[in-house]
Amino acid sequence: MNFPKATIEGYPRIGANRELKRALESYWADRIDADTFRSTTHSLRVDTYNHLRDLGLTEDYAIPADVAYYDQVLETALTVGLIPGGTDLDEEFALARGNDTRVPLEMTKWFDTNYHYLVPEVAAGQEITPAPERILRLVEEAREAGHVVRPALVGPVTLLALSKPVEFSLLDALTDAYAEILAALKGAGVEWVQLAEPALVADLSTTDEELAGYLEQAWSKLLAIDTAERPNLYLTTPYGATRKALSVLGALEPEALHVDLSPWTLDSDADYPKRVADTIGPKVQLVAGIIDGRNVWAANLRERTEVLEVLRAGGREVAVSTSTSLQHVPHTLNAEKNLPIDVANWLSFADEKIAEIQALVAGEEAAQEAFARSDRAVRTRTESDHIHNSAVADRVAQLPAGEVKRAPEFAERKRIQGEALGLPDLPTTTIGSFPQTTEIRKARADHKSGALTDAEYTEALKKEIKGVIEMQEEIGLDVLVHGEPERNDMVQYFAELLDGFVATENGWVQSYGSRCTRPPIVFGDVSRPEPMTVEWAKYAQSLSDKPVKGMLTGPVTILAWSFKRDDVPLSVSADQIALALADEVSDLEAAGIKVIQIDEPALRELLPLRADERPAYLDWAVRAFRLVALEAQPETQIHTHLCYSEFGQIIDAVAGLDADVTSIEAARSKMELLEDIDETFHSEIGPGVWDIHSPRVPSTEEMVELIRAALANVPTDRLWVNPDCGLKTRGYAEVEPSLKNLVAARDEVAAGL
Ligand code: GLN
Ligand code: ZN
Repeated sequence: MNFPKATIEGYPRIGANRELKRALESYWADRIDADTFRSTTHSLRVDTYNHLRDLGLTEDYAIPADVAYYDQVLETALTVGLIPGGTDLDEEFALARGNDTRVPLEMTKWFDTNYHYLVPEVAAGQEITPAPERILRLVEEAREAGHVVRPALVGPVTLLALSKPVEFSLLDALTDAYAEILAALKGAGVEWVQLAEPALVADLSTTDEELAGYLEQAWSKLLAIDTAERPNLYLTTPYGATRKALSVLGALEPEALHVDLSPWTLDSDADYPKRVADTIGPKVQLVAGIIDGRNVWAANLRERTEVLEVLRAGGREVAVSTSTSLQHVPHTLNAEKNLPIDVANWLSFADEKIAEIQALVAGEEAAQEAFARSDRAVRTRTESDHIHNSAVADRVAQLPAGEVKRAPEFAERKRIQGEALGLPDLPTTTIGSFPQTTEIRKARADHKSGALTDAEYTEALKKEIKGVIEMQEEIGLDVLVHGEPERNDMVQYFAELLDGFVATENGWVQSYGSRCTRPPIVFGDVSRPEPMTVEWAKYAQSLSDKPVKGMLTGPVTILAWSFKRDDVPLSVSADQIALALADEVSDLEAAGIKVIQIDEPALRELLPLRADERPAYLDWAVRAFRLVALEAQPETQIHTHLCYSEFGQIIDAVAGLDADVTSIEAARSKMELLEDIDETFHSEIGPGVWDIHSPRVPSTEEMVELIRAALANVPTDRLWVNPDCGLKTRGYAEVEPSLKNLVAARDEVAAGL
C-alpha cells in the first residue's frame, strides 16, 4: 500500500467557526446532552474530511484522523490505556478539567508552541488496558462518510517522555498496548497509522542517547510484527531535527518516516536534509515536512523545492507534508477581510498551506501559477517599505553590541527608590489585572460594534479604574494597579497599537481544551506611533497618593505570543519591540509614574528545545528586557513578573533581567523555589502567596505561613507580598476577601518583625 504523495500532519480541530469550542462549552454547561455533543462533533469531523478532500487531499490515507475532544496527548493516553477511562466522556473531561472529587491533570506547553497538553500521571508497574474502540469508531465514521483516513496518535516514546513521572520502565508494557491497538486497526482494514515521536527532537529530562535507546526498544518490537498483522507505520518527528535518533531511525526502517524540514528547523540545522538523505535507506518512504506547520508565511516554493531535491537524490520518491500539525495556525485566509492587502499576499494559513503542498508535488512545470505567485510574494516582501522602516533599523543598529546594563547598580537604586517611595516593610501589591467583569466585556463589544462611542467607552473604563483604585485603597494595599480593564489581552493590546503588527479577525488557534487565542502577526519593523498606556496610568495615578504601577508586557512575551517574522532573527524583532517599550517607559515617567512593571511570563516558553541553543536565546531575551528599562531614572522602580514555578533552567536569566522587584508564582509549590533563588538573586522579590488559579479564598493563616516560609530565605528588606498572578479570571467575590486576608497576613507578620 503506497503512502499518499501529498499529506498534512494534522489540521486545526477547533473548527473554522469554533464549533468544537461551542460544543464543549455547551456540554460542560449542561446546555446540550452527550448525544447532541457526540453528533455535533461527528458532523464537525466529517465536514472537515470533506473540506480537506475538496482542497485536494484525495488519495487514500492522505487525511490524518488526528481527533481529540480536549487534547491529543490525553486522547492517546486513553486509547492505549496509559490512563484508564475508556470511552467515558465525563471521565475524560474530569481528567482534563477536574470535578468535585478529582483535581485535573497538570497542563503544560507542547514542545515550543503555545498549545498546552495534559500531562498523564503514571506509576511504575501500573496496569495498561487499551481502549481500541476510541479509535475504531473514528475509522468507521470516516468510512461511512466515504473517507479512508489515517489514524494519528502520539507514539510510545513521546507519550512516556511527556508523562509524570518519566517512567520508561513502562515502555515494554506500553508497546504491547500499542501493538494491540495496531492489531485492532488492521482488523478494521486500516493500512496506514501515524505515530508522532517529537520527543526525539527535544532535550527533555531524558537525554538524546537514552531516547534513542527507547526508540530502538519500542519500535523494533512494533516493526517486528508481520505487516499481515498490523498497518504500515508512519513515524513522524515534528518540531525540529533529530540528532542521535536519526541513525536508529535509519536502522529501524519504519515503512514511512516524516522529518521536519521547515525553514524554522533548517535555520538552526542547515545540514539536516543532507543527513536525512544519507542516513535513511531507500526502503523507507520519506515524507518531507517541508511546509511550516506553525507559522503563517507563504512558502518560498523555489527554495522549498531545492530542499526537496536534496531528499530526492538518486531518483527517490518523496512525499510532501507539513513540518508539524497545522493545529498551530488559523484555518484560512478567506476568513480575513480586513488585512492590509500586501500583508495578506504574504500569508498562508492551514488551507493555503495545503495548496502549497500540492504545488510542490506537482512541480514547477505543472504548477506555474502557484510558483509565480510565490515568486511575487517573496519579491514584494523583500522590497516592501511597509516592512522595512529605516528609522527603526538605524536605531537598532546604533545600540551597543552585547550586554547592556542600567545604571546605577541595584544596591544604589534600592537606596534611592527606598527614599522616593517610602514603602512599609513587606510591601503589598497585585500583579496587574482585576476581574474582567461581564460589564467590561460588554462595553468592549459595544464599542467594537459602534454601539458605544469612543468617549462613552473611555468613560466606562475610567469608572472601572476608579472603582478598582478605591477598593485597593480601602483594603490597604501599598502599591496599586489600575486593573487593566482596557486590555482584551496582554499581548494583543500592544500589538494593535504598535506599527509592524497586524491582528486577524478570525485567526483563532487552540491554546488548550476549548480555549483559543488569536495571535497577532509581526510582519515588519516595529515602532510605536504614540503612547499606549500613559493616559490610563496617569488617570489612575491621579486618584491616589499611593504609587500606581504602570503596566507593560515585555518584548519577549509580546514576541512569544505572536506569529513571528521569518525574514529576520527573533532577536531583531525583540530589540525593536524593546525600543518601542523603552519610549513608553520614559513617557510613563514623564507622566509621574514611579513604579513600572514589565511582565515576561513567556520568558521560559521561547526557550529552544535543544540545550545548546539556549544560552544564545537567553542572551538576547535578557538583553531585550534590559533595553526596555535601560534609560529609566534610578528613582523609577522597575518590576517584572513571571508566572510559573519551575525556574531551574532560567533562574540565572531571571536574575539577569536586573529588575528592582521580581514577582513570581510560588503559592502552590509552597515557596520551595526560594531555596534556589536566594543565591542568585539580589533584587527584591514577591513570591506569590495566593494561588489565583484556584477558585477559593486563601485564609490569613495560610498566607502568614507562606510569608514566614519566604522569610526563611529572603531578608525582610527584600520581600514583597502579592498574589501569584493577575486577577482577571477571578470574580470580585473572591478577590476582595482574599486581598483583605493578604494585607492582614502581611500586617500580622510585620508586627512580629
Ligand atoms: N499583568 C498581567 C495581569 O495581571 C500579567 C498576566 C500574566 O502574567 N500572564 O493580568
Ligand atoms: Zn502571571
